[in-house]
Amino acid sequence: MNDGSPRSETLAVRCCIAGGGPAGMMLGLLLARAGVDVIVLEKHADFFRDFRGDTIHPSTLEVMYELGLLDEFFKRPHQELRLLRGWIGDEMIPVADFSHLPTHCKFIALMPQWDFLDFLAQHAKTYPTFRLRMQAEVTDLIEEGGRVAGVRARTATGALEVRTDLVVGADGRHSTVREKAGLQIMDLGAPMDVLWMRLSQRPGDPKESMGRFDPGHVFVMIDRGDYWQCAFVIPKGGFDEVKRRGLEAFREEVARVAPFMRERVSELSDWDHVKLLTVAVNRVREWYRPGLLCIGDAAHAMSPVGGIGINLAIQDAVAAGNILAEPLRRGHVGLDQLRAVQRRREWPTRVTQRFQVFVQNRIIGRVLTTQAKSFAVPLPVRLMRRWPFLRRIPARLIGMGIQPEHVNETSLRGT
Ligand SMILES: Cc1cc2nc3c(=O)[nH]c(=O)nc-3n(C[C@H](O)[C@H](O)[C@H](O)COP(=O)(O)OP(=O)(O)OC[C@H]3O[C@@H](n4cnc5c(N)ncnc54)[C@H](O)[C@@H]3O)c2cc1C
Repeated sequence: MNDGSPRSETLAVRCCIAGGGPAGMMLGLLLARAGVDVIVLEKHADFFRDFRGDTIHPSTLEVMYELGLLDEFFKRPHQELRLLRGWIGDEMIPVADFSHLPTHCKFIALMPQWDFLDFLAQHAKTYPTFRLRMQAEVTDLIEEGGRVAGVRARTATGALEVRTDLVVGADGRHSTVREKAGLQIMDLGAPMDVLWMRLSQRPGDPKESMGRFDPGHVFVMIDRGDYWQCAFVIPKGGFDEVKRRGLEAFREEVARVAPFMRERVSELSDWDHVKLLTVAVNRVREWYRPGLLCIGDAAHAMSPVGGIGINLAIQDAVAAGNILAEPLRRGHVGLDQLRAVQRRREWPTRVTQRFQVFVQNRIIGRVLTTQAKSFAVPLPVRLMRRWPFLRRIPARLIGMGIQPEHVNETSLRGT
């Protein structure tokens, strides 16, 4: 009989994943599909939260194809982005053309992240070895004999202890798992933060996503069907100064950089409509310890340049699944296998971050701080205007990443 006092529960599983974001849900699905007993602990009650990026890249869509889920996935409302354009001053220039990628989907799909996560959860739940516990926040690690042997979590109904062969920290860029494991983080710095907001769409609006680069301003508009998801880039730590100048001044700045929005900037009637993303670019030196691995943002927070954080998180999950499913089925994951996951994913992360830091410092930082009234279109962009095939290079970097991962049916065989 329940006497009303909080319950304490203990579970034993092969793999316990902290965090039900893109990395955690994809790894949970892959391991369950491979017959591994897996639990995902997610601290929130549902997936419906603030905007955290809606982009599903061609390489992620390729993974969905390999899993046989693509047709069903596309039954959910989404938009398709085939060409990315940039406005530099008064000139509109296509900068990334996805239509030539060697993938089944030659576009970025735009879908709310909660729909994507809900889709992964629904499919994972069809496997008997999958469990998802919402409102279960990992608070600590259990260590025994020099290795991580499980986690402690706080749930809606009381304390939970999960004993496991492997803890995966997929709990995002403020990872508790990473902190409790004492994994060291390297900060690569960023000269900017991003203010996210929604503005409605109206008849006659341009029907495509784009980025605008004007002296002092970088503004990105993502077409989300009946509204624009907008990113207003500001110098690092500049949000207090933006607020000090007042909402009216901010609305005027948005209207100046996107004049066709002028009539609707009044929709930003409160600072609550403007969400700050504090940009961080970092990665851990070692992604693992005995009995523990970090993936996704927990291992490396990405810059918003290219909008590739979700894609990298998914690619980490696929690589981790490919390497770890078999050892997990056997019941022993050694350091060599954890090291192999880091080795596989670290270099694409490093190269991507190096590229992002270059763009942040050499392009965005300069655009934000320039005093000039106008600036010339940079040479690489001019070349893309002249030779359209060059637009395939950024499309490949953004759409597929440095090292796209594929579902290995030998280790991740469906059961
Ligand atoms: C405002 C914003 C806009 C973005 N835009 C884009 C974009 O356009 N394209 C793109 O690719 N990326 C974008 N990103 C980045 C992207 O969201 C991340 O890179 C990606 O979600 C990383 O996935 P993840 O699974 O590693 O971590 P997360 O998505 O952060 O997921 C971590 C999960 O763990 C849960 N969690 C945290 N702590 C605990 C705990 N202690 N116990 C249990 N659960 C826990 C969280 O609730 C969350 O569900 C954006 C991010 C932000 C904040």
